[in-house]
Amino acid sequence: MLNLKDPSLLRQQAYIDGEWCDAIEGQTVAVTNPATGESLGTVPHMGAQETRRAIEAANAAWPAWRKKTARERALILRKWNDLMLENADDLAAIMTAEQGKPLAEAKGEVSYAASFFEWFGEQAKRIEGDVLESPARDRRLIVTKEPIGVCAAITPWNFPSAMITRKVAPALAAGCPIVLKPAELTPYSALALAVLAERAGVPKGVFSVVIGDAKAIGAEMCANPIVRKLSFTGSTPVGRLLMEQCAPTVKKLSLELGGNASFIVFDDADLDAAVEGAVASKYRNAGQTCVCANRIYVQDGVYDEFARRFTEKVKALKVGNGMEPGVNQGPLIEDKAIVKVENHIADALSKGARLLTGGKRHELGHSFFQPTVLADVTPDMLVSEEETFGPVAPLFRFKTEEEVIALANNTEFGLASYFYARDINRVWRVAERIETGMVGVNTGLISNEIAPFGGVKQSGLGREGSKYGMDDYLVIKYICLGGM
Ligand code: ADP
Repeated sequence: MLNLKDPSLLRQQAYIDGEWCDAIEGQTVAVTNPATGESLGTVPHMGAQETRRAIEAANAAWPAWRKKTARERALILRKWNDLMLENADDLAAIMTAEQGKPLAEAKGEVSYAASFFEWFGEQAKRIEGDVLESPARDRRLIVTKEPIGVCAAITPWNFPSAMITRKVAPALAAGCPIVLKPAELTPYSALALAVLAERAGVPKGVFSVVIGDAKAIGAEMCANPIVRKLSFTGSTPVGRLLMEQCAPTVKKLSLELGGNASFIVFDDADLDAAVEGAVASKYRNAGQTCVCANRIYVQDGVYDEFARRFTEKVKALKVGNGMEPGVNQGPLIEDKAIVKVENHIADALSKGARLLTGGKRHELGHSFFQPTVLADVTPDMLVSEEETFGPVAPLFRFKTEEEVIALANNTEFGLASYFYARDINRVWRVAERIETGMVGVNTGLISNEIAPFGGVKQSGLGREGSKYGMDDYLVIKYICLGGM
C-alpha cells in the first residue's frame, strides 16, 4: 500500500456540499495501480442524483462566494496553493500510484497544478471593466464583468491534478462555484485536492467532487439549467457529445480536446536541441498527453542523422514502476491504450515503415510498452491521422518548407505544434502558417500557468491558464446610465 506522510489525503469517498459521502445506493468501483495491477482501494459509483445534489449545493453557496472580495478569494486560493506544495510528496505518490507517471513527473505536475491557484488568485484582483465613450451627452456606458454562475468540469486521467486546478482556480477566482467529475481511473488525486480545499477554507458547496458513471454525471451536468458553464478536457468524440448535450440549455463551453501535434526539424536546426526536445515532447507521461509530438517531420538533409541520435536517446530511456528512482517511462494507463499503440505500429510496418527500436510490450508486463521509434513513415499510415497516445515516435521525411506546412496542417486537429529552425525569417513564417493554438519554437515543452493553453479547429474552444483563461468564467454586463 501507499506509504504517505499524511494518510488522511487518501480518501475513498466523494465530496459533496462540504461532506464526505458514499453513493446513494452504496455502489463502489475499484481503483487500480497500472504499474502493478493491484487495487488501491475503491471510490463511490455515483450518478445523476448525487450530481444534482452537488449542483444545488453549488447554487446555494454561490451568493456568499461571489460576494467575497477578490482579495478574500485570492487568500483562500493562495492557501490551497501552499497546502499543495507542502504536501507535494504525498500528492505525487498518490498520482504515480493511480496514474503510473514517474514520481519526478508527478511532482512536477503537482507544482504546475498548484501554480494555477497562485496565478488565478492574483488575477482575481485584476478583473476589470470599462467606461466607454458615450455617443450621447446624456448617457454613460459602463461595462462590468460578473461571474458566470455555477460551473461544471469533467477532467481526464493523464494529468490527474493539473487539468482540475486549471479549471477550478479560474472558476473560484472569478467568483463561481464548481462541481467536478474527475476521470474514474484517477479519482484519488482529485479527492486529495478536496481535502486540501477544506483545509484552505473553501466554503462548503463551492467545490464538490462527484465520481462514478461518466455518462450519467455528464448528462446531468449538461442538462441541469443551474449549470451555466461546462469545461471539459478529454477526447474529441466526448467533447462533441457534451456540446450537443449542452445545446438545449445554451451553456458556455470550454473544450480542450484531442491533438495531433506535428514536430518539425528543419535543416538549419540545432540537431542536439531538436533531439532533446523531441524526446521530452514525445515520451513525457509515456506519450499520453494531448500536446505530445505525434508526427515528427524531419528535413531530408538531416533525417538520417536525426534518426540516429534520436533513437540512441530513446534506447536509453528507463522503463519501470514510476515509484522507482531513475525511471523515465511508466506504464500506459490501461490495456486498451496498449492495443491502440500496437495497432498503430502494425499498420505502419505493414505499409513500409521501419522499426528503429522498441515495437513490443515491455517484459515488465501489465501495461508497460517499449519506447518505440519508426522511420520512413508516410501520411497514409494511421499514426499520421490519429493521436497514438503512447510511446511511439513516427519519423516522416520531407523536402521543402511548403510541403511540410501542408502536411502539418492536414488534420482536423489544431492544438499544439513544434518546430526547430534558426533562420529568423523561417521561424516567423512557419509560426504564422501553422494552424494550431500553440506553437513551440526550439522547445518541446510549452505549458505553464501564464500562457494561454488551447486549440483551434476540432481541438477545442476557449483558453485555459493565462489572463485570457479567466474570461471563460466571466460574463460581460453593459450598463447604460441614461437621463444624465
Ligand atoms: P480518454 O480517452 O482520454 O479517456 P475521454 O474523453 O473518454 O478521454 O475521457 C475524459 C473524461 O471524460 C473522463 O473524465 C471520462 O470519464 C469522461 N467521459 C467519458 N465519456 C463521457 C460521457 N459520455 N459524458 C461525460 N463524460 C464522459
